[in-house]
Amino acid sequence: MERTLSIIKPDAVAKGVIGKILDRFESNGLKIAATRKIQLSRMDAEAFYAVHAERPFFNDLVDFMISGPVVVTVLEGENAMQINRDLMGATNPKEAEPGTIRADFAENIDANAVHGSDSVANAAIEIAFFFSEKEISTTSEQ
Ligand code: ADP
Ligand code: MG
Repeated sequence: MERTLSIIKPDAVAKGVIGKILDRFESNGLKIAATRKIQLSRMDAEAFYAVHAERPFFNDLVDFMISGPVVVTVLEGENAMQINRDLMGATNPKEAEPGTIRADFAENIDANAVHGSDSVANAAIEIAFFFSEKEISTTSEQ
């Protein structure tokens, strides 16, 4: 069973749409294997987004990600990584397909509601950044 990491970013948490976003995942066949609301430190955000350290938007991205609490979630299911990316929509909400999370809940490319792992390999790294294996549990269909 494939796993991926989702982060509901500070803009969406502040808007009060945690439940609506988690519902998108559950309504589209993904299981919530673990979830937690946390306040990232600057060091956490810099480490998590280290791949973007040389990008011009890096400092703004880190400032934004620590501007309020986030919800980190492990999603599980067949093709979980790609299904989550499809549910998210394009990075720039103005380019996101109607009905995607970013089209429906995000304002702009800086405050774009959600993060999702972009490969299965990165998902494993990102999940391990926030969760130990014993905090993650598979839910089987009843
Ligand atoms: P995604 O979140 O869709 O995987 P990236 O990994 O390319 O997108 O970028 C990580 C995050 O950095 C984006 O979600 C967005 O918040 C921010 N970002 C990306 N590109 C830009 C940009 N050109 N200007 C401002 N912020 C950006
Ligand atoms: Mg990315």
